[in-house]
Amino acid sequence: MIFNNLLQKKTNKWKPIIKQFEAIVGKDGVVRRKEELLTYECDGLASYRQRPALVVLPRTTEQVAAVVKICHDNEILWVARGAGTGLSGGALPIEDCVLIVTARMKQVLNIDLENHSITVQPGIINNWVTQAVSGAGFYYAPDPSSQIICSIGGNVAENSGGVHCLKYGVTTNHVLGLKLVIPDGSIMDVGGAIREMPGYDLTGVFVGSEGTLGIATEITLRILKRPESICVVLADFSAIEDAGAAVADIISAGIIPAGMEIMDNLSINAVEDVVATGCYPRDAEAVLLVELDGLQVEVDENKKRVAQICQQNNSRNLTSANDSETRLKFWKGRKAAFAAAGHISPNYFVQDGVIPRTQLVNVLKEINALSEKYGYKIANVFHAGDGNLHPLILYDNTVEGAFETVEEVGGEILKLCVKAGGSLSGEHGIGSDKNCYMPYMFNEIDLETMGYVREVFNVKGLANPGKLFPTPRTCGEAANAQKMKEFKDAELF
Ligand SMILES: Cc1cc2nc3c(=O)[nH]c(=O)nc-3n(C[C@H](O)[C@H](O)[C@H](O)COP(=O)(O)OP(=O)(O)OC[C@H]3O[C@@H](n4cnc5c(N)ncnc54)[C@H](O)[C@@H]3O)c2cc1C
Repeated sequence: MIFNNLLQKKTNKWKPIIKQFEAIVGKDGVVRRKEELLTYECDGLASYRQRPALVVLPRTTEQVAAVVKICHDNEILWVARGAGTGLSGGALPIEDCVLIVTARMKQVLNIDLENHSITVQPGIINNWVTQAVSGAGFYYAPDPSSQIICSIGGNVAENSGGVHCLKYGVTTNHVLGLKLVIPDGSIMDVGGAIREMPGYDLTGVFVGSEGTLGIATEITLRILKRPESICVVLADFSAIEDAGAAVADIISAGIIPAGMEIMDNLSINAVEDVVATGCYPRDAEAVLLVELDGLQVEVDENKKRVAQICQQNNSRNLTSANDSETRLKFWKGRKAAFAAAGHISPNYFVQDGVIPRTQLVNVLKEINALSEKYGYKIANVFHAGDGNLHPLILYDNTVEGAFETVEEVGGEILKLCVKAGGSLSGEHGIGSDKNCYMPYMFNEIDLETMGYVREVFNVKGLANPGKLFPTPRTCGEAANAQKMKEFKDAELF
């Protein structure tokens, strides 16, 4: 009886809101049935789930603004969602929230080849940006491995990276301007086609804000001319430490490859089982992929130098590819590495941390030690040039307590990264997964200052609450104070 009354109260609360939303986006733009809402209850971090109260699917900036204004006036929590591929629980719904999904905002609004820019709606898939301009010899550089499914809006919110971000920079280096709907429902423009803007860099503030400052509804991106020549060198090693040392030596030699990636033996075999590239020797402890691009003479010269450096670091075999078909084959395995982990283990937990390149060898040893201590295999795939690690912790979710232990191992890896002078995230963001680790990297004043910035945009705290920053409720800060002290006092290596 009490339950029925509560349910009735809840239904009554939403009825007038649903009507208002339907008037803005149409009946088919509001998802409210329980079974249909299931699709939206998690992002790529599927271990956390929460069904939203409603999903709204707008098509334009004005529709987004009207929906957000209703949330503001009625004090309704809301979360933005792109394609839902995020790996840190950024688009995870909050209890009783409205999920604003950009899946219907998929238009290219303007292409300006003369000024090397393109303006798109946020629901556009990353890969489509390059497809829209490739006929004219241009491309969009940031290329997350999820680029065939993730949205540009999500990329902006997470400041996503990818293989080619070593040379060309992550998303923030490619966003020129944004049209935003901020959490009171106002529409504002930040940045623009001209790069030299006076005043605060609000575009920079918004990129990486993980949906806590508003929704990007139009995004102007920098596009680049395709390089004259591209070559990928593939080297394999019998010790992963040697591959790591080769990476440090290539950068020290003044060569900045377009991308530089390492996969370890576990990943090599998983990938060969699944996509059978035939390029990665199964008995190698590590493969290193180095993509060089630029003018033909520059690429030819750098290819020789990279080969020399790999040989000096005991590489066993070296191959290279200039034609696009073989290059794609070399990269196919790396791009499929996360998915392939699902072939060798029922479940896996992807961690994302950054370390200084020079610490690669030490940190890998420590990760191995953690793997042995906790008894879980860890496959390593990383954007080696940026020091961005992606350890994949393999486990079986049907074993009681396994997920909790794996989360603990993931946390230990993050602390290791911070201790080594690195960062909690290279590209997957903080979301609801890593917010409790923020105090390991930032002090109280840092966090408070970031909190003030959030409050300026997100006055009532309705946009994506509980994400990015630690809260006493989710992180039990008092209980963690002693652990934090021990962490800060401890020596590494
Ligand atoms: C197999 C696989 C490989 C991956 N590889 C990479 C990789 O190489 N590099 C990398 O960086 N990431 C990678 N990711 C993670 C993920 O794809 C990226 O974080 C991506 O940017 C998320 O985009 P999305 O559209 O799925 O965003 P969602 O998951 O829907 O949302 C992510 C965050 O963005 C916010 N958001 C979404 N749209 C907007 C908007 N328009 N305005 C404001 N906030 C918004 C959400 O609230 C949430 O906080 C990978 C994921 C998978 C599953």
